[in-house]
Amino acid sequence: MNEPSTEQDLKAALQASHAWWDDMGVDIAAVAPTPPSASKSTAKSERKPLAKQKNRSAPKPPEIDTSKQLEKAAEQAKAAPTLEALKTIIEGFDAGVLSDHARNIVFARGNPSADIMVIGEAPGRQEDESGKPFVGPAGQLLDKMFAAIDLNEDSLYITNVCNWRPPGNRNPTEAELAMCAPFISRHMELIAPKLVVIVGGISLQALTGKTGTMKTRGRWQELNIGGEQVPAMPLYHPAFLLRRPELKKDAWRDLLAIKARLEDV
Ligand code: URA
Repeated sequence: MNEPSTEQDLKAALQASHAWWDDMGVDIAAVAPTPPSASKSTAKSERKPLAKQKNRSAPKPPEIDTSKQLEKAAEQAKAAPTLEALKTIIEGFDAGVLSDHARNIVFARGNPSADIMVIGEAPGRQEDESGKPFVGPAGQLLDKMFAAIDLNEDSLYITNVCNWRPPGNRNPTEAELAMCAPFISRHMELIAPKLVVIVGGISLQALTGKTGTMKTRGRWQELNIGGEQVPAMPLYHPAFLLRRPELKKDAWRDLLAIKARLEDV
């Protein structure tokens, strides 16, 4: 095998090995060397060898102070005049562990002029590879759910509260979600939707501060988007519905409520 020669080659080689470790169920953030451009590298001596990691099945994400990045995100997101500009800013943003380990940022798919903005949690493997949200098995179910009420990519704009796939497919931490908040907030302002569909508990918490889709799904919420109060419906995450298909009947009720509400917006 050729030796990686440039910094870019090195980063690509690291990402390929991260993908392999990830497939093997290893928490990459806890063990992987950080790419050379990263500002928050962990010295080799500080890293625990794999065998010494405790509780590898439920790894604790690294505690990282993201307050500086949050300030930068707020400053830069506010200054984005267009969607394209916002995407470019996110692509160039140092989101620490998140951007160090992601292959691509995952921005959006669908129609930017749509009345409905669908906001999920964070990208998974297929989304990270393709740079598009909700393209894996959960995304396929999400598309079917919307197709059942006659909505498709022409009538929807789909994104996530977090634009990077967290390493090892873990959930984004609270600090990471806070850092991403200015981006999703500006994203919503630029789209100016008439109705928002909140997909999953992580997005529910990030957008409304409420926890628990079990008790909140099916109940209309309001989001302040650029000074306007916009109706928002929390839905079960399709990945959850794949594991709990008996709850699809509740999701169907929520979809019908969305369809009915669309007549008034
Ligand atoms: N789950 C999400 O919440 N978003 C995606 O893009 C993919 C899976």
